[in-house]
Amino acid sequence: IFYKYCSNKFHSLNPIEPILPKPKMEYGGTAISRLPRRRDKIVVIMGATGTGKSRLSVDLATRFPSEIINSDKMQVYRGLDITTNKIPFQEQLGVRHHLLGEFESSLGEFSPYRYRCHATSVIKQIAARRKLPIVVGGSNSFIYALLAERFNPKSQVFDGSDPVCTELRYRCCFLWLDVSLPVLNEYLKKRVDDMLDSGMVDELAQYYESEINESEPNTGLRKAIGVPEFQRYFRTFPGKVNDTCGGDVEEEQVRSVLYKEAVRAIKDNTCQLAKKQTEKILRLKGEGWDLQKLDASAAFSAALVREPKERWSDIWERQVVEPSVKIVKRFLE
Ligand code: ATP
Repeated sequence: IFYKYCSNKFHSLNPIEPILPKPKMEYGGTAISRLPRRRDKIVVIMGATGTGKSRLSVDLATRFPSEIINSDKMQVYRGLDITTNKIPFQEQLGVRHHLLGEFESSLGEFSPYRYRCHATSVIKQIAARRKLPIVVGGSNSFIYALLAERFNPKSQVFDGSDPVCTELRYRCCFLWLDVSLPVLNEYLKKRVDDMLDSGMVDELAQYYESEINESEPNTGLRKAIGVPEFQRYFRTFPGKVNDTCGGDVEEEQVRSVLYKEAVRAIKDNTCQLAKKQTEKILRLKGEGWDLQKLDASAAFSAALVREPKERWSDIWERQVVEPSVKIVKRFLE
C-alpha cells in the first residue's frame, strides 16, 4: 500500500528515497524494505580448502574487470600468511583484494555478522567503480551471512537446526570448485609439506613468542589450523626452531616426536576441514542455492603425479577456467 501511495503521489516528480520512513531493522541492522531494489551482481567462488579458489578468482579477474573479496575466516586477520595460505602478493597479479589480512586478531573474533557488514560495504564500493565483485573463500558461514536475505547471527544453519534462507541479497553467480575427496586429501597432505618447506614453523614460532598470551581466550587466529597443533611443541621448545645442533640426543628425539605429531595433526585436521566444508556446500545446494559445479579433479591428479606444469595448467584451463568464463559471461549478459 505504501509503495502504491509513494508511486502515485511522488514518483513522477521526486525520488522516493527521501520520503521513506526509516526502514524496519531485523536481526541487528539489516534493512528490510518492501520496495523493489536493484540488486548488484556478484560472483561467488565456493569450495573446500585447497581446491584452487584463489587461483580461479585471479584467472577470472584477469578476464573481467573485477575486485576480489576474501571470505576465509582466518585470512581476514593480519599475520600467519603461510599458515593460513593467503594468496601471495605476486600471485594476485595486480587484482585488488579486500578483507585479506586487514583485521587484528587480538582485537577480538571477526564474526559472520561483522563479515556481512564489511563485505556489504565493500561490494557497494566495487559496484560503484563499475567492477564485478568476486567473493572467494572456504568459510561457508561467512558466505551465508553475507548473502542470506534474512540473517540471524545466532542461527545455526549448518548443523541443521535452522532452515537455510534461499532468498539472496544479490544476484549471485555461484561457482563451486570441487575436487574428489581422495585426490584432494592427497593434495592437502602435500600442501602441508610445501607450507613447512616455505617457513611455516618459523612463522608459528614467532607467533607463539610474540602474540600468544595463554591467559587470553582462544579466539581468532589462534584457531587457525597449525596453531593449536604446534602448541605442545612450542611449550616444550619455546622459540627453538633451527636450534637443533646444541641439544642432547634425548632432547632431539622428543623434539622430533612432537614435530611429527604436530604435522600429522595438521594434515588430519586439514582433510577433516575439507570434508566438513564440502558437506556444508552440499547442504546449501540441496536447499536450492544454484551452485554450478566445476570438477578440478583431473587437473589436481595431473599436478600430483608431477606431470609437466604445462599439462596440468592446460587441463585447468580447459576444465575449470573456460567453463567458468562461459558461465560468468552468460550471467553478466
Ligand atoms: P565453522 O562454523 O566450523 O567455524 P566456517 O564455515 O565458519 O565453519 P571454515 O572456513 O569451515 O569456517 O573454518 C572452520 C575452521 O577451520 C576454522 O575455525 C579454523 O580452525 C580452520 N580454518 C579455516 N580456514 C583456515 C585457514 N585459512 N587456515 C587455517 N585454518 C583455517
